[in-house]
Amino acid sequence: MSISQVEYYSIKEKSVSGRYVVNGQVLDFIEENRDSLSIKTIGKSVQGREIKSIQLGSGSQKILMWSQMHGNESTTTKAVLDFVNFLNKESSSALQILNSCTLLIIPILNPDGAEAYTRINANEIDLNRDAQNRSQPESVVLRDVFDSFQPDYCFNLHDQRTIFNVGRTPMPATVSFLAPAHDAERSISKTRGVSMQLIVAMNNLLQEMIPGQVGRYDDAFNANCVGDSFQMLNVPTILFESGHYPEDYERERTREYIFHAICKAVVTIAENNIDTFEQDNYFEIPENGKLFFDVLIKNAQIIDLELTNGDSIGVLYTEVLKDNKVAFEPRIEKKGSLEGYYGHKTYNCLNEDDLKELRQQSFYQLVKA
Ligand SMILES: [Zn+2]
Repeated sequence: MSISQVEYYSIKEKSVSGRYVVNGQVLDFIEENRDSLSIKTIGKSVQGREIKSIQLGSGSQKILMWSQMHGNESTTTKAVLDFVNFLNKESSSALQILNSCTLLIIPILNPDGAEAYTRINANEIDLNRDAQNRSQPESVVLRDVFDSFQPDYCFNLHDQRTIFNVGRTPMPATVSFLAPAHDAERSISKTRGVSMQLIVAMNNLLQEMIPGQVGRYDDAFNANCVGDSFQMLNVPTILFESGHYPEDYERERTREYIFHAICKAVVTIAENNIDTFEQDNYFEIPENGKLFFDVLIKNAQIIDLELTNGDSIGVLYTEVLKDNKVAFEPRIEKKGSLEGYYGHKTYNCLNEDDLKELRQQSFYQLVKA
């Protein structure tokens, strides 16, 4: 079973879009759907915002997923609301999932960070480094839910920066996955193997949609990371990273691919099909590289006389919250021979049309010496 792209547009949640997604929107979504959803307040953030969970289905396979543990990583939140809509529509495929699985979804685990558009929570703690200490109320909430729900699978949902490419190729890592390690040797337990098989299932589907744009995240072990810590407790856990799709800084395209990936993983679990996917194929997914700039200006010696022939300027955007919207503010990240790097937008100053276009860009004042 697969969900067509047409079907996706019929269930896409229209009340959320763009990068700035806050708890109030989740509360509105819940209010709008309160007759059909089982909702709980599972705790409160440092600043007292309610953390909500949505439970669906009645099957024996229990799946826990949480999004926006990093407050400025909202793409997967949009995708899980789409996924709730999909399940709520009770199509035959949705009913099959609901009969086989019980899903517990936390749309925003870090509502204070979401409000402030920061990775960290209101005490400036990275919740994904707090799995052992659990010094923060949000970390306690997640662990309490984990302990009481006793999931068979966990989906840890995030965003990644625009710098990531796939392997050494010029393809952006639009989606990346990780089957987190459970020990420093990065050994493959049965649990970790299951995470890998589910990633293979999702990768197979995504390769049809965005060929070459799926990467594998670094698997260095860190027990303070939530994914690693749940994997240590023998629950197959998958890290999802939403990344850049060309010209999609609002991450609406990526949202759609994440939706399809989540559906694929859940359907694979619901249909009891995990063993049809080869664990070894996981390692065929290229690792993420860090070879992208948002803007790469080649032969920049034309506009900056201090540079040597053939040098480039790499520009990255900083995401800044302004008037309730995320603005992308350019800054120079690197200058020099940037051989082997790529740009989501590239200008070659030896090309007159490029130079003309470059001079009209808002960041031109910044890069010209
Ligand atoms: Zn993250």
